[in-house]
Amino acid sequence: MDTIMERALSGEPRALARLMSRVERMDEESAAIMKELYPKTGRAHTIGVTGSPGAGKSSLTSCLITSFRKMEKKVGIIAVDPSSPYSGGAILGDRLRMQDHALDSGVFIRSMGSRGNLGGLSGSTRDVSLVMDACGYDIILIETVGVGQSEVDVVKASDTVCLVLVPGMGDDVQIMKAGIMEIADLFVVNKCDRDGASKVAADVKVMLDLMPPRAWRPPVSLASAVRSEGIEDILTNIAAHGKYLADTDEGMARARSKIENVVEEILRREIAERVDSAWRELRGGAIEDLAGRRTDPYTLAADILDKIILK
Ligand code: GDP
Repeated sequence: MDTIMERALSGEPRALARLMSRVERMDEESAAIMKELYPKTGRAHTIGVTGSPGAGKSSLTSCLITSFRKMEKKVGIIAVDPSSPYSGGAILGDRLRMQDHALDSGVFIRSMGSRGNLGGLSGSTRDVSLVMDACGYDIILIETVGVGQSEVDVVKASDTVCLVLVPGMGDDVQIMKAGIMEIADLFVVNKCDRDGASKVAADVKVMLDLMPPRAWRPPVSLASAVRSEGIEDILTNIAAHGKYLADTDEGMARARSKIENVVEEILRREIAERVDSAWRELRGGAIEDLAGRRTDPYTLAADILDKIILK
């Protein structure tokens, strides 16, 4: 075990992949790994890229990887697809025009599907991103396939959430969906080589004006991933948001509340697992007792809770 961790920490991609698989199992060993790695985390900037399918997330992610690599940053990519049963493999990586970066040792791509994610996709995505962080990846891009609730939960765990919009896709719907407006830290209107991009950007700005003012006003960039245009502007905005998080009280409070959420999530997961296992153990006899009115559901639930807490 220790050698795998050491090899991963020294930047060996195969060891890193194996370490992630162990973390994803969410068993006792996973917790032991995370305990050891956690003190080494906190350096990476995690960027969530979300938006409707076809908006160009994958193309933009690829442009961002190229730019970050030019800055000599190591880049980890987590491609999230809750509808996919696969984890770890390259199924989703295909979407990322991975061939452009496949031979680059400073780029590591990990796919996350629903398989083996007992603690939920957002929990395992976060743990995998912490592993990347500990292993020296400076930038972690979390790219999602869609904008469903599970994708929203996943990107919420990022430091900076980037919402990709495009002209001509029922723009009001794109923007309003799933309260996404509130979670976006920056907006990118992609496909600005097409008509209507400036209109979408203007609409977003109007909607931002209508929202209660916040300490960080999300900037709106126009970009064309196919032409590699507007990428610098996105990078500038990402860096500015990173600085806001690091330098302001609001930014730091936000980072703290994310850590708080992690603790709550671990507690919920742990308690749910204990409830399940206690119930499996007691279920057979308990149902007979309930049916015979020898006990009642309230007493039974209280007994089970006592058992869990004492464990
Ligand atoms: P995703 O589903 O959001 O990841 O979107 P993709 O990156 O797979 O892109 C969907 C389609 O839009 C592909 O055919 C891309 O070539 C195309 N596309 C991506 N970015 C642009 C752009 O800036 N302009 C134009 N015209 N097409 C783009």
